Formats: sequence, C-alpha cells, structure tokens
Amino acid sequence: MLISLVVPCYNEEEAMPLFYREASRVAAEMKQSHGADFEFIFVDDGSRDKTLQVARRLHSADPRVRYVSFSRNFGKEAGIYAGLKAARGDYVATMDADLQDPPALLPQMLDALLSGDWDCAATRRTTRKGEPPVRSWFAHKFYQIINRMSDTEIVDGARDFRLMNRRMTDAVLQLAEYNRFSKGIFSWVGFRTKWFDYENVERVAGKTKWNFWSLFKYSIEGIVGFSTAPLVFAALVGVIFCFAAFCGIIFVAVRALMFGDPTSGWPSMICILLLCSGVQLFCLGIVGEYLSKTYLEVKHRPIYIAQETEADQDARSRG
Ligand code: UDP
Ligand code: MG
Repeated sequence: MLISLVVPCYNEEEAMPLFYREASRVAAEMKQSHGADFEFIFVDDGSRDKTLQVARRLHSADPRVRYVSFSRNFGKEAGIYAGLKAARGDYVATMDADLQDPPALLPQMLDALLSGDWDCAATRRTTRKGEPPVRSWFAHKFYQIINRMSDTEIVDGARDFRLMNRRMTDAVLQLAEYNRFSKGIFSWVGFRTKWFDYENVERVAGKTKWNFWSLFKYSIEGIVGFSTAPLVFAALVGVIFCFAAFCGIIFVAVRALMFGDPTSGWPSMICILLLCSGVQLFCLGIVGEYLSKTYLEVKHRPIYIAQETEADQDARSRG
C-alpha cells in the first residue's frame, strides 16, 4: 500500500525541512502500524527562494521524495492538480507545507478509508485562532453566501487537507478545468467523505501567501465556478426595474392628464438615470465575469508548466 503526500510549496524553504521531518516520523509509525509506504511530492510553485534546491536535496537524500517544479507561479490550485497527477499512491493526501495540516492526523484518516465505509477523509478546523477577526468574519460570510447560491456544498472551515482513495483522486483529475476551486471540486465529485475536526494550528515558519485582496479574488472564483445564481440575479434586477419603470410611466401619464405637465423633476430624473445605468453596468460586469472565465476555459491552456522534476535530477546524476 502506497500513500502519496502532495504538498504545494511557494517560498517554503524554511518550512519544507520541518514538514519533511514530521511527515517522515509519521510515515515510519504508519509503516509499523499499517504497513504503509510513502512518497512525498513537493510541488514548487515557481518559488523565488531556495524551495527547489531544498526539494533537490531532500530527493538525493531520500528517494521517496519527489518533486515537480513550475516554470512560474501558477497558484496553489495548480500545484495541487500537478501533485495529484504525479501521485502514484493507492491513497493520496493533499496538505500544506507549513504544518498547519498536522500529519499526525493521517493514521486516523487512513483507518477511516480502510474500514471501507468512506472514500475520503477530510479535515475542518473548528477555530480560526490566530487569524485577524475581520478575515474570519468575511470568511464566514463567504461560506454563507456561496452555500445559498450554489448546489455544491462548500463546508465552512474545510481545509484542503484530505486523504482520498485512488478512485476519488482519478475523479478529481478528470475535472481538468482551468479555473480551479478545490473546495468546490472535492465536493462536486461526491463520494463518501468523513470529516475530522481539529483546532487551528499556526504555521511553523515563513508567512502566509494570502492577503485580503487575493482571498477576495479567490472567493469570486469560487462563486463564479460553482454557481450561476448571479446571472439569474442580474436578470431579476432587470425585471424589477422594468416593472418599476412601467408603474412610473403610468403614474406620470395620469398625472400629466389630470394636472397638466409642468417641467419639473429634473434632479430626480438625473438620479434615476444614474441608478439605472449603474445597475446596468453592474449586471454587465456579472455577465463579463462569466464571459472572462469562459474565455480562459475555451483557450485550453495547460493548468501548469513544469520545468523540472525529480526524473530530470536522476537523469543528470546518471550523466
Ligand atoms: N501555495 C502555493 N502557491 C501559491 C500560494 C500558496 O503553492 O501561490 C502553498 C503554500 O506554500 C502552502 C499552501 O499553499 O503550502 C497554503 O498557503 P498558506 O499557508 O500561505 O495559506 P494559509 O494557510 O494562510 O491559508
Ligand atoms: Mg498555511
């Protein structure tokens, strides 16, 4: 039985050796308890620090370590996809390099899959300790909104830390879309998922790669990727405005017939004009958001471009 650990890494030179140490410790335990072999797949997402050098070093010291290095930064979602594609394991786990996803949970997660009742063991954090309160508030709101709009359930607090069997991994790989929102993809493919709760752990080294703006863009990605409700909303707003305008026309016509037509109401007309064109542009923007995603999708660009893998290193050292 082989277990692959897929670890997307962007500027994680400090965290990677710590991750490797902790993961190897758990791997040795699980070799004893479950007879499981491991491979570690580090995906260097176009890092600007020594992440690639660290991966090379780990590979030459331990052949269980494999890596894929991207030609530039393609984002965590692309990293996960590349790692899943490279994984050869019967069971595949995705986890962060910063030890915020504790490898010590893996034995329990594997037990769940081995029982035959579950295809996937996923994790969810119960607290957001150590996170700015504003960020937590927006995160909760995002989950509320997306779950109301989308048929795909997106679990609040879910991490990208999961262990999946081969069948589910292959299903996820079948969704080779360019705009990837993993939380949605994992949920969309279905399968029986067991949830494990744990308290938030702070990262061991390095800093978070997310800021408010990137999280905001990511949330829009999630909504556009897994719901068409905003399009319906745009159409609905159009219908409501038409109705209001219709009522307005009747009111104005009746008033003109009864009381004549003094030329007043100029400021209110400007306001209405501004409101209507604002709403129009807003709705056009929604449509544009879907159009741009569609545009990127139909170009069929690759999700990532690899510039080096551990196979290249082996070929080099063979001469
Ligand atoms: N990551 C990545 N590419 C990126 C940004 C992040 O591969 O463009 C990786 C990062 O190295 C880490 C994981 O994604 O292993 C989660 O990132 P981070 O810890 O910064 O996010 P947070 O835990 O704060 O949500
Ligand atoms: Mg983290």
